[in-house]
Amino acid sequence: MLSDAELDRYARQIILPAFGGAGQAKLKAAHVALVGAGGIGCPAITYLAAAGVGRLTIIDHDHVERSNLHRQPLFTDADIGAPKAKIAAAAARRINPHVEAAAVVRRLDAGNAVDLLAGASLILDGCDNFAARLAVNRAALALRIPLLSAAIGAFEGQVALYEGWREGSPCYACLVGDDPDRPGINCAEQGVIGPLPGMIGTMAALESVRALTGWGRPLTGRLAIIDMVERRWREVGVAKDAVCPICAG
Ligand SMILES: [Zn+2]
Repeated sequence: MLSDAELDRYARQIILPAFGGAGQAKLKAAHVALVGAGGIGCPAITYLAAAGVGRLTIIDHDHVERSNLHRQPLFTDADIGAPKAKIAAAAARRINPHVEAAAVVRRLDAGNAVDLLAGASLILDGCDNFAARLAVNRAALALRIPLLSAAIGAFEGQVALYEGWREGSPCYACLVGDDPDRPGINCAEQGVIGPLPGMIGTMAALESVRALTGWGRPLTGRLAIIDMVERRWREVGVAKDAVCPICAG
């Protein structure tokens, strides 16, 4: 299943008893759909590709702007104006030639989310607006695909994993409700310190690898909150909302 070159490439990962060759084979067979190739997407794509996820689909309609560069290190000045998804997919293939990376230069919305996300083993949502996050949540629930949700703003980041179709397990809307007009966290308005998305996107990649391969304590139904003003790290359980408009009943 894994070639000699792959066994060599992933040797330091395969040697981990909790991960092993079986974990590596699961990663190779996995397909992660990333919503957003921005501050969270750039490090997540980097580490998912390097770690050996077999297939990545990168969904982002945006183009690289100069004001992205302080926190989105897959892009350089030469990429300004180019579609983020295409540049990021090319970077993923360059990082690891064993990875298939496809770019989808489209805005994900409630009308196309199921089509764009169907077939993924896991969805990593690092997009920048609330309406798209709610559309991703609905699609993840309908398709029964684990949703790794990561968000940042200013000096704080959050990472959670939702499998709302499971008994007693929350969905994203159980935490935040389902009002698409609710103001979201937006880096353009709130600002963000450059290395923070690197931390949160990397953690999102690690928790995705964990969810796909199954070692240690899963993040399912839990929300990790990292505050880098005071350097505090907390984790709280997310309760399933018995009257959630999306996942209840
Ligand atoms: Zn719910």
